Amino acid sequence: MNIKTYVPTILESWTLNKSSIPLRSQLYQLEPIGIGTPFTESLTSLISRLAMAHCLPPGVLMTRLMNPLINKAYGGANLHNIYSFTDALNGTGEMAKNLVEALQALTLHDNLCLLTMLPWSKLLPHRHLLHNDRTWCSACYQDWFCKRQTIYEPLLWSLEVIQVCPLHRQELLQQCPHCHKKNYPLAWHSRPGFCSKCHEWLGASPEVKSSNQKERSKEELAFEIWAATTVGGFIASTSNSAFDLTKDRIAKAFCLYVNHLAKGNIAEFARQLKVPRNTLWLWCQGNNRPTFTKLVEICFCLGVSLSDFLTADTSLKCHQKVQLLPTKHQPTSRADAKPLDLQSIELYLKEILESDKQPYPSLEQVARTLGRDRRTIAKHLPELCRAIATRYLDQKQAIKLEAIAQCCQEVRQAILELHEKGVYPSEGRIAELLTRPGFLRYKEARKALYAAKQELGLEPE
Ligand SMILES: [Zn+2]
Ligand SMILES: [Zn+2]
Repeated sequence: MNIKTYVPTILESWTLNKSSIPLRSQLYQLEPIGIGTPFTESLTSLISRLAMAHCLPPGVLMTRLMNPLINKAYGGANLHNIYSFTDALNGTGEMAKNLVEALQALTLHDNLCLLTMLPWSKLLPHRHLLHNDRTWCSACYQDWFCKRQTIYEPLLWSLEVIQVCPLHRQELLQQCPHCHKKNYPLAWHSRPGFCSKCHEWLGASPEVKSSNQKERSKEELAFEIWAATTVGGFIASTSNSAFDLTKDRIAKAFCLYVNHLAKGNIAEFARQLKVPRNTLWLWCQGNNRPTFTKLVEICFCLGVSLSDFLTADTSLKCHQKVQLLPTKHQPTSRADAKPLDLQSIELYLKEILESDKQPYPSLEQVARTLGRDRRTIAKHLPELCRAIATRYLDQKQAIKLEAIAQCCQEVRQAILELHEKGVYPSEGRIAELLTRPGFLRYKEARKALYAAKQELGLEPE
């Protein structure tokens, strides 16, 4: 080729500018559960799940990653410093706000305030808003486990006004049935569904009633379920627009109802609601606000849902007359009200210990038979009480081991049955055939499952 006649071809041109890469989040953008439903997940629950997803205890996540972003005088997100205030993490105050901001920065979510009561911060006083201790429904945990759904903790459970699960109509629990301890709403080793102190599973079928359940009349239970339903509806309706509600919203609603039901007479309306006249007057003036629990009780008396009360307009949908709250159930005899007869109590405890009758009673049951508080008896007769408690726990452990052994047999049986029918023995299908599907979590059951599958050539050697 003659170099003088060569004409170079023009190739396509390349842009050498850097293309924009979307922002990456430091932590997984784990999707919160149930936003827009009554069972919206709580912030503390999301933190626990997020920590699990990163194979970290929530304590490490809080202290190492969140704390540097907060670093406030009250201890920021250093769990060791804020253990006793962790109930505030789902609330309406600064702690919740700081935590939401830090977690949003780490996950690039932008709606995490919906997992707290922050949207209602202008409306609700923080006093008595949240349970001080972690609160849960054991039947919900069990249900989700059996259906292979994600185990989490709804915001609803953390509110002090909620005492009963609206789905299972049973009391929410605060004491672990295994170690009898309470949990912080967020602890170093928090994990939805498990005790943060002894790490045992907290789920149980609805038939298993806790011995600590309060006695409730039918009317009381109906009120508790109504409260949970209306507060659930309120949570479901939470959106960023809730922030626009002004502080005088509650005062306006009270004034409307005073006019509607008591012709503007505050004293008369206070008498109907059974609240002090001055208190109601302060509420109507907007100088004071009722606690969330009181507000829910008043809505019940008026026959309106919480959302309707707060958006009250002139077309009021409510009872024509204020209805009364069900009276609280009073226990018939107060334990420890009568004088202590230590001698006969000692004799009774010895008798219990000598008897071989099974199942052995727990110390709690023995104390209840005596009409006494367990702690009072244990203070006076520590050794006998310890012996009764130890015997009960040993027996409980033996029963558990037996049940696990039975579960292992059932697992094997289920796998063989399914395989014979030509159906793959998935964990879901196996669980359906077990008396206690929750036991599949024990390592013994897992071993049995693996061994039976291996035997059928479904698992590599
Ligand atoms: Zn439940
Ligand atoms: Zn425990």
